This record gives sequence, C-alpha cells and structure tokens, in this order.
Amino acid sequence: NASVSPLRKINKVINNYAIAQQKEIDTLQKNAEYRREFVADISHELKTPIFATQGYIHTLLDGAIDDKQVRMKFLKRAAKNLDSLDKLVKDLLTLNQIETGDIHFNFGEFNLKNLANEVIDQLEHKASKKGVELTFKYDEQANHLTYGDEDKIYRVIQNLLFNAINYNNKKKGAMVEVELKSGKSSIQVSVKDNGRGIPAEDLKRIFERFYRVEKSRSKEKGGTGLGLAIVKHVLEGHKSKISVSSTVGTGSIFSFSLPLVKEDKAPENEISREV
Ligand code: ADP
Repeated sequence: NASVSPLRKINKVINNYAIAQQKEIDTLQKNAEYRREFVADISHELKTPIFATQGYIHTLLDGAIDDKQVRMKFLKRAAKNLDSLDKLVKDLLTLNQIETGDIHFNFGEFNLKNLANEVIDQLEHKASKKGVELTFKYDEQANHLTYGDEDKIYRVIQNLLFNAINYNNKKKGAMVEVELKSGKSSIQVSVKDNGRGIPAEDLKRIFERFYRVEKSRSKEKGGTGLGLAIVKHVLEGHKSKISVSSTVGTGSIFSFSLPLVKEDKAPENEISREV
C-alpha cells in the first residue's frame, strides 16, 4: 500500500492542476467574450451619432449651407450629435475602467448637501426648459458630512437627476425631488420623479450597460444606456447599493445610502485658548 499512496498523491496534484488550468481558461474565454461583446456594443453605439453628423455636414457642403435656416438647423443637429458622442465616449471610458478594475477611488469626507446642491444648480436650466419643477428637501439640523469619492458621487447624483428630468413625460405638473434623510449612521439620498415610470420587466435590467427601456426614445433623448450601469458600479465601490421602485404612469424613486461621518469639530473657545 505504501507504493499506492504516493501515486494517489501525484494523481491528486495533477487533477488539481488540471482543474486550476481549466478555471484559468474559462476566465480567459469569458474575458475574450466580454471584450468581443463590448467592442460590438461600442461600435454600434458610436455609428449612430457619427453617421448623423457626417450626413448633416456633407449636406451642408453640397450646397445647403447657402440657406440660412437650413444651415442653422443642420449645424444645431450636428452639434447635438457631437455632444452625445462626447458623453458616450466619457461614459464608455468610465465604465471600462470600472469593469476592468482599473478605477481609482479618492475617498475622503465631504458635505453631501453641498454636493447635491451643485448638481441641482447644474441641471436647473435643463429642468426649467422641460417645465420640470425641481425641489431639494433636507433636514436643516442634520449633519450632512459623509465619506466617499466626491467626484464619483457627483456623477451618481447627476445621472439619477438627469434621468428623472429627461424621462419625465408630464405636460403639466412635472416634478422631481431630491431628498436627503440623515439617520443614525447613514444618509439616504433619493431622487423621485412623477414621470413615465419603468415597467417591471425592464426594472431588473436597467442597470445593465446599453440597456434602454424604449430604445429609440431613450436614444433620441440623448441617453447612452450607460448611466445606471456606472451608478451601480460606483456605489458598489462604496459598498453601497442603488435601489429603485417604479410604477408605470406614476413615477420612479432611485435611492442609495452613504455613511454619516460624525462631525468632530472642537468648540470655538477651546481653539481660541490653544492660540
Ligand atoms: P440612458 O443614458 O439611456 O438614460 P441609463 O442607464 O441612465 O441610460 O438608463 C437606462 C434606461 O432606464 C433609460 O434608457 C430609460 O429608458 C430608463 N430610465 C432611467 N431612469 C428613468 C426614470 N427616472 N424614469 C423613466 N425611465 C428611466
């Protein structure tokens, strides 16, 4: 029996090695598949705005430029397509960094109320152009200091707010509300709209990259289908999660939480004594 045992041991080692090799091959194949799909998706997404811009510019060069009205219309459309292209490329870079694990988070303390205010200021114009009333609700007494990557959380709130405004189809009484609720150890951020809502079968898939509920409508509205995938990944990087509840015809609420950092400021008189 003494001679069987080493043989068994060798067999076991070989077996384990083969399993490990197979696992590595599976991972490589999965990565290759992921890359193929990613490139196919990207090419498809890039083609639309490029073709459209080419079309407008060539038509202008072919003589349409002499007509002032047509010129303005085509230049505006070309500019709009270039804007979507710019957003798409930026989102793609971010998503690719995230999905390949190449993203770096700059964690630190920041004031969530100030950050949300900045995003609201930036999107106020878009909201008023669409006739959407934008409100910001927060507890005046609460501490809004949190811990995370400020720039990336800015993009999270920006994406959620952009969608809430963008997909609001109400002709009258369109409303979007950003709310901060401070608890004992966390602050919840929610973005609520009274827009078109999202059907239950789509709700499970909206966080996948390039997934859009109504493909043509979302695209026409400047959507890349990447915003919520980025939101999900960025929050995962903060050990947080995005949650959503939505009813068709009534609206949607997207929310997430971040830790509450206890303010640790020395009382003023103590500081002056030290000085
Ligand atoms: P996009 O860049 O197309 O907006 P997102 O990943 O941000 O991509 O969102 C995915 C899809 O989810 C959108 O195309 C849209 O159809 C739907 N969606 C997202 N937010 C909302 C919302 N607040 N109300 C209705 N539909 C929404």
